Amino acid sequence: MFAGRKSFNIRSVVKPGVRDLVPYEAKEIPCKVKLDANESPYGFEIKPKTLKSISTNRYPDPEAKALRAAYAASTGLKSADWLLHGNGSDELIYYLIATFGGPVLVPVPTFSMYATIALALGERVVRVPLDYDFDLDLPRTLAEIEKKKPRLIFLSSPNNPTGNRFSEEKILKVIKASSGIVVVDEAYEPFSKGGSFIPYLKKYENLLILRTLSKIGLAALRTGFLAGRPEAINEVNRVRLPFNLNALSQAAAVEALGRAREMKKNIREIVAGREWLASEMAKIEGIHPFPSEANFILFKIKEPRQVYNGLLREGVLVRDLSRALKGSLRVTVGTEKENRYFINSIKKIMRAPA
Ligand code: PMP
Repeated sequence: MFAGRKSFNIRSVVKPGVRDLVPYEAKEIPCKVKLDANESPYGFEIKPKTLKSISTNRYPDPEAKALRAAYAASTGLKSADWLLHGNGSDELIYYLIATFGGPVLVPVPTFSMYATIALALGERVVRVPLDYDFDLDLPRTLAEIEKKKPRLIFLSSPNNPTGNRFSEEKILKVIKASSGIVVVDEAYEPFSKGGSFIPYLKKYENLLILRTLSKIGLAALRTGFLAGRPEAINEVNRVRLPFNLNALSQAAAVEALGRAREMKKNIREIVAGREWLASEMAKIEGIHPFPSEANFILFKIKEPRQVYNGLLREGVLVRDLSRALKGSLRVTVGTEKENRYFINSIKKIMRAPA
């Protein structure tokens, strides 16, 4: 292809902002108990009737009308005009940054894809460390808003990977102080008791909310939503790829949303599992679990890598976060049996470290 040329260095033609990006760590690591990716341990069985309703030769509904209507009804939004569908909420993060641009302000640590996508799109990232309770550092955030004028601010609440919600009062102050868009990412809101920010959409024109079905049993379908005023939704819709959400995901998600009782029961079980895990972990010497309102628990430990490897030898996969947060691992809440297996395994490792 490059005949006559001695050597071609592919890296020399990659955009400078992309050259040093670290790809999102989402490898398939074989294990018995998978507690690394904040998925739900409970899946939905898709009915054959739903599968049969799909015409594989046709493009999917570009507007995902049935799905947006079903989701609007389930979240108390006025109409589907207040929603945009994404192939996962991470696609919507891409669209948001493509639409509004940077600088993009993020607290640290948080979901890594906000900064990764911003850099991929050539935007500047402003990082503001969280305070000692993992809450927003308001004075510093407000100072950066004033100085750097971010066009976008991403606040994951509950936050991944810390698990806590940010103070509602502080989020509202950030929304009021910002002349750009503030996105509250509610990926883990279903597991929290504080309530959604959706009712604030009527009051604050610069607020947008991200939601996903990935944490409540449908990660395989890659179905996420952006909720906001129709004027804002229409702007972001300009950059959406025409058929971004496939027909199977649309149909299966509509079916799952129609089984709200089953979904709610699963969420209740995950919350109960989280509380059990937190209390058991707190009893183990050398482990410091942080309070969580999500479907995972962040914990500090002296030898994170050894414990991570020890757990893997027992067949338990957790997430090593020690790069983002010194000495930290994150465990996703599983089924009762998986949670017990995790606790027994970690006890065993702590007693006899490798
Ligand atoms: N936001 C947050 C805070 C997350 O933790 C994740 C997944 N880890 C996402 C968004 C993306 O979720 P999805 O693309 O599966 O909807």
